[in-house]
Amino acid sequence: MTTFTKRPFNLGSTLAALAMLSACSADTTVDTKVPAEDPTACRDNPIALQVLGSGGPIADDHRAGASNILWIDGKARLLIDAGSGAFVRYGEAGVDFNDHDAILLTHLHGDHASGLPALLNNGAFAARTEGLTIAGPAGSEQFPSTTAYLDALIGKEGGALRYLHPYLDDNTALPRLSVQNIDSQKPGLQRIWDKDDLKVDAIAVHHLDVPTLAYVVRTQSKTLIFSGDQSFLSENFVETLSHTKPDLLIMHNAITMADGQPRGLHRDPQSLGETAAALDAQTLLLTHHMQRAIKLQNEVNAAIAESFGGPILMADDLSCHPL
Ligand SMILES: [Zn+2]
Repeated sequence: MTTFTKRPFNLGSTLAALAMLSACSADTTVDTKVPAEDPTACRDNPIALQVLGSGGPIADDHRAGASNILWIDGKARLLIDAGSGAFVRYGEAGVDFNDHDAILLTHLHGDHASGLPALLNNGAFAARTEGLTIAGPAGSEQFPSTTAYLDALIGKEGGALRYLHPYLDDNTALPRLSVQNIDSQKPGLQRIWDKDDLKVDAIAVHHLDVPTLAYVVRTQSKTLIFSGDQSFLSENFVETLSHTKPDLLIMHNAITMADGQPRGLHRDPQSLGETAAALDAQTLLLTHHMQRAIKLQNEVNAAIAESFGGPILMADDLSCHPL
């Protein structure tokens, strides 16, 4: 179990972590965990992104799978992805299921969506009555739609956890889930949430054969962009969001510049830098860490910095990033 020492996440600590990384040999397994002082304190910022899970699909990085919370004025308004292990971090961060406006899924790979049933199970104890939006990609031949995924999990007819089916029924004790299946081929932005001070748009990206979305979140003059997992073929993403100047661009740290890396799934570091530069990102937050990238983090960051001159932060489980 992680011991939380007094250490708020900030740029200085990030640079210290990177200095530690550059001191390590290229074939050393590196642990960049930066424990938060108090993981429940992130909510005290007017607007903050808290990373619940900063890992990828392989267990060797000792991190929860992709998951993030957007805190606005003390409420966990958005949950973005729900990877494996998010359930534990969700509790450690002090997140309340009653606070969510929406749950946004970038795609239905296990490292982004397999924690959802545990969080819905948790939510059944929250006494929430207000409905809850869940947005995710529409399906393809290889992948279910978000609706089909929820049916397979909690559907009344054949869902594995069908005791939770009241989430999908009207007039029941559990909050009604309103599911949006977002077209992952359509160019441009697709508005999925616009209420009070919070606007969310989805945008299709390319992640090999996986229907995948990025999300653009705007609140109180701040903009966050969650890239999802995306390859260099995501031209629609760059063209549509060119010069958006996001305060925080959240992207994956999944591959290196080496030959043979899965570039059909993920942008390599050079491409990450070009993307951050094209969007005029104020800050790039790297998450979805995989060992093959972390082991070479100084090289990865140098390749990003060829195009992108802004700060590069390293996410950790429970790290807090105020805006
Ligand atoms: Zn992933």
